[in-house]
Amino acid sequence: MIKLTVVMDETRFEQSVSIQETTTKEPTALPLRRVSRRERPVTLHDLTFEELEERLTGAGLPRFRADQIFRWTYAQLAEQYDEMTVLPKDLRARLPELLPLTKLEPVRAVETDDGQTRKLLFRTFDGEHLETVLMLYADRTTVCVSCQVGCAVGCAFCATGMMGLTRNLTTGEMVSQVIEAAREARALGRSLTNIVMMGMGEPFQNYDAVLKMVRILHDPRGLNFGARRTTLSTSGLVPFIDRLAGEPFQVKLAVSLHAPNDALRDTLVPLNRRYPVGELIDACRRYVRTTGRRVTFEYALIKGVNDSDAIAAELATLLKGLLCHVNVIPLNPTPAAPFERPSPERIERFAEVIRQHGIPATVRYSRGVDIAAACGQLRTEHEQQIAESNQTG
Ligand code: SAH
Ligand code: SF4
Repeated sequence: MIKLTVVMDETRFEQSVSIQETTTKEPTALPLRRVSRRERPVTLHDLTFEELEERLTGAGLPRFRADQIFRWTYAQLAEQYDEMTVLPKDLRARLPELLPLTKLEPVRAVETDDGQTRKLLFRTFDGEHLETVLMLYADRTTVCVSCQVGCAVGCAFCATGMMGLTRNLTTGEMVSQVIEAAREARALGRSLTNIVMMGMGEPFQNYDAVLKMVRILHDPRGLNFGARRTTLSTSGLVPFIDRLAGEPFQVKLAVSLHAPNDALRDTLVPLNRRYPVGELIDACRRYVRTTGRRVTFEYALIKGVNDSDAIAAELATLLKGLLCHVNVIPLNPTPAAPFERPSPERIERFAEVIRQHGIPATVRYSRGVDIAAACGQLRTEHEQQIAESNQTG
């Protein structure tokens, strides 16, 4: 059952819990499927401009075709080669075989928040499912992109983490999500202004493919999407924070902290045992020194776990002197995890204590709670429906 209303208070919270109880039982156990690199199809969305040029000239086509195709794909958002009327007809007929545009197949779309949030579910060439969310705000249009099917990090409150990792997404699969969302936005009279890597998966465990996505979307001959408007969100893989600081792209960094000390963070983000809080914050300080850019800390607020005034003060002390901003995200309760969202008063108070200590903090209600828009929940629900219909049919 899908509810299409949004109420930013405790009522909505209760509604969303009841939806989850009626639609979900246990997290789906998925078979781990391995697809070798050789088996993965190469699509147009996988290629940088230079790689496209190489591919086309290798097939005996003139170099200038790359410019035309790239422009039509990213600036015009053509859905098929046939729309690229600048190309000769016989070439348009040949290209889908030579280089498919995309292999991502739309499966389902649901909307909520009065149509302000649209969640898109896709099927990959090997039958996996992944999610993309388009969020419309008064001043911006943001797409939330997935970078993996599942996730290996296994955070205690996260629906994606409960699936485990099936595989990394390819650059093409990530670019395709952005392009699909850009088309959806265009149909609504909008254009995309922000990309956040906050869908399924840990971007720093698929680092090269994610950075290649940034490069392709950034190319002025195509979408020309400013790197500054792209945010990579990580659960804290320290070596990649340092690596990102050295990249030419000025992407934004968000770090999912959720706790100010190791004893607590160990229980929420298992990766903390490898990269403890002190090392993580040191890496953030190096990142700010090198890039001059602010770090955003995400903090999923969980009732009775990490939401006290004392913890807020500890968090503010930890972040003292660091160019940063804290996003307090009231938890989206997930089936199979025992955690709850704190009361609205507690949520506001937590953010207030951080601010009183001089650290900027904002409460951000994540969009589309009532369509299971929290990380990985729609996909879990869809897999479950498939499993159930297989059992009954
Ligand atoms: N793996 C990356 C990016 C994807 S998750 C990361 O962890 O940063 C995007 C954000 O959603 C993270 O801050 C994550 O902690 C948060 N998140 C995941 N599940 C959530 C839930 N049930 N409620 C609130 N926030 C959640
Ligand atoms: Fe993975 Fe991020 Fe979910 Fe943690 S919160 S399990 S890192 S997707």
